Amino acid sequence: MLSARAQKIKPSPTLAIDSRAKAMKASGVDVINFGVGEPDFDTPDNIKEAACKAIRDGFTKYTPVGGIDPLKDAIIKKFHVDNGITYQREEIIVSCGAKHSLYNVAQALYGPGDEVIIPSPYWVSYPDQVLLNDAKPVFVQTLEKDSFMLKPEALEAAITDRTKSLILNSPSNPTGMLYDKKTLEKIAELAVRHNFYVISDEIYEKLVYGNAAHISIASLHDEIKARTIVINGLSKSHAMTGWRLGYAAGPADVIKAMTNIQSQSTSNPTSVTQKAAVEALNGPQDFVSVMRSEFDRRRTFIVRGLNTILGMHCMAPNGAFYVFPHTASIYGSRFHNKTVASSTDFALYLLEEAKVALVPGDAFGDDNYLRISYATSLEDIRKGIERIRQAVQNLMPAT
Ligand SMILES: *Cc1c(COP(=O)(O)O)cnc(C)c1O
Repeated sequence: MLSARAQKIKPSPTLAIDSRAKAMKASGVDVINFGVGEPDFDTPDNIKEAACKAIRDGFTKYTPVGGIDPLKDAIIKKFHVDNGITYQREEIIVSCGAKHSLYNVAQALYGPGDEVIIPSPYWVSYPDQVLLNDAKPVFVQTLEKDSFMLKPEALEAAITDRTKSLILNSPSNPTGMLYDKKTLEKIAELAVRHNFYVISDEIYEKLVYGNAAHISIASLHDEIKARTIVINGLSKSHAMTGWRLGYAAGPADVIKAMTNIQSQSTSNPTSVTQKAAVEALNGPQDFVSVMRSEFDRRRTFIVRGLNTILGMHCMAPNGAFYVFPHTASIYGSRFHNKTVASSTDFALYLLEEAKVALVPGDAFGDDNYLRISYATSLEDIRKGIERIRQAVQNLMPAT
């Protein structure tokens, strides 16, 4: 008999669609994969070389649980230069991915009776990580007309004396939304007044477009910094998803608890990856801007294309590599004698009929939308949009 905890959670739905699309592709089907949650760029050579050197030098043993000092120092420098925040080594932990840092925070902070506020649409792992630690996710709906930003009034209405934390994700997966300073200031004010933590997932920090600028809520003032755990990592910024390296910065007591938890589960992140990460943070950064401009080009192209498909409309996001088109107007239409009644029906229809893989909005807590990742070639994006257009034209409108 499995534990109650294990029975409460489900596998990551984004990974599930991705593996199904990959399986179809492997069996020879020409699938366009808009489901991917990782950059389609290769890790830069200087980073790979640093890892090879670490292996040749025999840097292949256990390291301190929370990361080697040169890496912590590189992370401290990054926070100082990019975010204007000052941290000490005991306020930093390096983990096996940002997801692992998030999991460590959940273990360190949550217990039975605690409530964790999650703005919806949300990244898929947030609710399940809360459930795994016996706490309760409290969802607050955000709306496209507010660019999917959490309204301070809506946050205030959700706060109770059991509120333990709020999870922020800016830029956001799945919507691509980026918080503005005014909203962050109001959210910070509420967190300080009601004394709860803010978990700020900033993994897409480097992927911000146009005139928009990323702001870390922890940079606003000392009172909010004392209640914020910033989560970041190299998966998205340096195309290093498979290397498994993320980190967190926050109050020393929370970081210490996270480090103790990590010491009893995974121990240190891979020694070789840590050396690669030092190079990623301290070495040349031109790769990041090359990748960003390419994503920006695709973003403009895909938003324009999707907005020409009847029944869809799509906000132009400021960050990450996703668009989140509204598709609910299409629900109720039919193909042969099947009705497309939900985002999941629509995603399955597109996979089967158009050979386009993408993730239903339902996976992120909003059935009215689909998530499309543009971490794929412009050529595939062009083809994918045409396939979706054709598939939508083949539907019989709702009667
Ligand atoms: C990709 C992603 C992560 C996890 O990144 P890893 O460092 O690979 O674990 C965390 N949060 C969000 C919102 C993501 O999209």
